[in-house]
Amino acid sequence: MTRTNPRPNVLLLGGTSEASALARLLAARPDIPAMASLAGRTINPVEPPIAYRIGGFGGVEGLCAFLEEHAVTALVDATHPFAERMSANAVEAARRIGVPLLALRRPAWQAVDGDRWSQVADAEAAVQALGAAPRRVFLTTGRLELPAFLAAPQHFYLVRSVDPPEELPPRTRLILARGPFAEADEISLMQEEAIDVLVTKNSGGSATYGKIAAARHLHLPVILLRRPGTAEVETAATAQEALAWIERQG
Ligand code: NAP
Repeated sequence: MTRTNPRPNVLLLGGTSEASALARLLAARPDIPAMASLAGRTINPVEPPIAYRIGGFGGVEGLCAFLEEHAVTALVDATHPFAERMSANAVEAARRIGVPLLALRRPAWQAVDGDRWSQVADAEAAVQALGAAPRRVFLTTGRLELPAFLAAPQHFYLVRSVDPPEELPPRTRLILARGPFAEADEISLMQEEAIDVLVTKNSGGSATYGKIAAARHLHLPVILLRRPGTAEVETAATAQEALAWIERQG
């Protein structure tokens, strides 16, 4: 007699702290087979506590083949809100193969009293918003967005990124660090470097919110890259909610 597995077989697209939190919950649930997937962009990624693979799938076709080969029955897209291509591929592959898809997405930050935000579509628009006069910029958009700022070498940039960027504007101080970052430390850093504007992404979540709160505290303007528009997908905001969704797929 063949027995079918009553549990979903999960593929978790990772690269965020929410994905790590869900992987920890899944590690405590050996009854739910699950594999995490990382893009392989970070030199020293945080190792997931469940089975994992690293590297692109090879577009939608590759992801479809992977889902079929590994008999995936529940797909969780816990990539970063700005990982637009991977999320679009997940939507398309899930549709083609007929696998249920959940997006695990931290809600975007919302402006509160005292915030001085300009919201822009992309890094090029952020460069425009900085203007022509030299400024002291705290730049935390991630290294992939940095090339756009080479076009504005008149500014000083305090760049913080997890891995070293390939090319930096001429007047730059680079800090290599991975969050979380506390508000008090962000205030000290921005004061020490006499920062007059913060440029960042609307990533959401608490791990990197300290700089937003620090800018508010220091009455500094923030140029915020808006999230890319993504397809309508069932969404969970926390790892716990995502686990509950996985359990319902059994
Ligand atoms: P992206 O532009 O949406 O994806 C580019 C390609 O990278 C995808 O088409 C896919 O290659 C591969 N890929 C992305 N995430 C993957 C995953 N979890 N597993 C396997 N392959 C993956 O993504 P990105 O913005 O470069 O982000 C790459 C990774 O860094 C993601 O895991 C994301 O969560 C994380 N991250 C991104 C940001 C950000 O601001 N963009 C910030 C923090 C962390 P194939 O087409 O070959 O499958």
